[in-house]
Amino acid sequence: MSETAARRWTARVLTLFPEMFPGPLAASLAGKALESGAWALETLDIRAFARDKHGSVDDTPFGGGPGMVMRPDVVDAAIAASDRPEAPLPLILLSPRGRPLTQRRVRDLAAGPGARLLCGRYEGLDERVIEAHVPEEVSLGDFVLSGGEPAAIALIDACVRLLPSVMGCADSGAEESFERGLLEYPQYTRPRDWRGRAVPEVLLSGHHEKVRAWRLARAEEITRRRRPDLWARYVAGDV
Ligand code: SAH
Repeated sequence: MSETAARRWTARVLTLFPEMFPGPLAASLAGKALESGAWALETLDIRAFARDKHGSVDDTPFGGGPGMVMRPDVVDAAIAASDRPEAPLPLILLSPRGRPLTQRRVRDLAAGPGARLLCGRYEGLDERVIEAHVPEEVSLGDFVLSGGEPAAIALIDACVRLLPSVMGCADSGAEESFERGLLEYPQYTRPRDWRGRAVPEVLLSGHHEKVRAWRLARAEEITRRRRPDLWARYVAGDV
């Protein structure tokens, strides 16, 4: 393996629907970066690890109730096959029970070698395979998706755009929402007057220090009003 290949950020997705990838990750910034080899995407079809001739990957829940549960033996075999001891990647289970994803976690993941992303379907995974492997459980938010794949795509997108070889302008990440624990300040472009609305005067002044102060003040105001939770942490210096 060449040195570049060894260092390339890699997303290895364990899924029952490999055809969902690269999906939206083939477009725009992430797509160009994928094509140029700045990062790598691999999928592992969980169904390939089914034990019986019917290819069963799920079964009814013990104790009754609706839906199907993914079998622990099948998922375990897929996880085992996803492991490369010579180039380990952290195992992440996309789950509504996980810790909500933050920009801080995205930054750390982007700085690492990549991730193995285990996508649930149906009612989710048999609890015992989670206990056996203790993956980091990550949630996209307090709502329920029909599968982990859209969450994996979101996580990969957030990481890939931070890779040093991908980010268009080296600085453009530092000012964004969450990077300083604040939501972003408002942005404006041409035309200068639009439907009777002018661009704030200070932005046309060319006075960099005044622009910076105005943007910080607006970012603080927006965060205080919209996200008291983020504001409390910002004020406490916990960014
Ligand atoms: N019965 C489960 C929901 C299963 S949804 C429950 O009530 O908690 C099926 C799969 O979609 C899950 O296994 C998980 O991989 C994925 N998923 C659903 N919502 C998610 C979210 N908010 N974040 C990340 N993954 C999610």
